[in-house]
Amino acid sequence: MSAAGFERGETRLPDWDPSADDQIQPFVLEQSGVRGRLIRLGPALDTILTRPGYPGPVARLLGELLALCGVLGSSLKYDGVFTLQIKGDGAIRTMVADLTHEGELRGYAGFDAAALAAAGGEAGGEVGREAAQDDGTIERWLGNGHMAFTVDQGVYSERYQGLVELTGPRLADSLLHYFRQSQQLNAGILVACERRGSGWRGGALLIERIPGEGGRGGEGTGAVAGEFGGDIAEEDWRRALILMASCTDAELADPAISPERLLFRLFHEEGIRVFEPQPVAVGCRCTRERVERILRSIPREQIDEMKVEGEVVMTCEFCSRDFRFDDPALDRLYGGGREDAG
Ligand SMILES: [Zn+2]
Repeated sequence: MSAAGFERGETRLPDWDPSADDQIQPFVLEQSGVRGRLIRLGPALDTILTRPGYPGPVARLLGELLALCGVLGSSLKYDGVFTLQIKGDGAIRTMVADLTHEGELRGYAGFDAAALAAAGGEAGGEVGREAAQDDGTIERWLGNGHMAFTVDQGVYSERYQGLVELTGPRLADSLLHYFRQSQQLNAGILVACERRGSGWRGGALLIERIPGEGGRGGEGTGAVAGEFGGDIAEEDWRRALILMASCTDAELADPAISPERLLFRLFHEEGIRVFEPQPVAVGCRCTRERVERILRSIPREQIDEMKVEGEVVMTCEFCSRDFRFDDPALDRLYGGGREDAG
């Protein structure tokens, strides 16, 4: 992230700027020792959710997961991939979202169509906004399960994984549960995903207490706090949380309120400073070589059984891209590929 922050005066706030979609807006609240990020997803989210044609409840929850992945993953300073993954025993069995350090976002969901219909989520249907607010989405669609966090910095570095039980009603509640449990971070988080006229839109807002900063005159959060320092810091943090909580789902996703305007509306009394936004784009890392590696790990006889009209079609779960293998392609794969099976 660029260190060159700039201040916004009240009079210079822009009106709706469509280019403010699909980006992450970092900020700090100087009065309260808080930093945060707001992600706003428009066309990128709509592409990911509509390409496979997910039913409404699936799209909505996957959209939330993508927004959460973006807002969390963008804070990590590394070259690699941040992944959020959910496994549940409900109609939606699995959801994955990942973000690369270059801002490429992708995701997919696996669900049981019959179970989804039985739970009231007909294919192509949509949860009404009011219903979505209070119908206990995790319990209804995902059931019991867990959410995993993975930071993958490539072949030669460690994978870090965190795990938390799904705790509802909303996905953000599971994350807060994780933060509390792991005591890594004093954080607040909001997320929303809605279908509007222009397509699926989403947003997520994360604030975290800057370690060692207590806001106005405060001196940290515990042992070294001055006579009143700790209390002031705690007050500042609680005030930031309360201000954040006044943000609605509609505002988080609203294309008519730019991220800067929304942040200013929420936190204008806290000395807000915004930094250069980071763009997010749809991106997938699938390649024919990767698909070939998967195929080579399966016996040829089984592969042959997968043939439809003379060819095997492997479809990327993330981007729906098809990889086709006819007989000559399979012969090449199985004839010459054994030596590099590792
Ligand atoms: Zn792909």
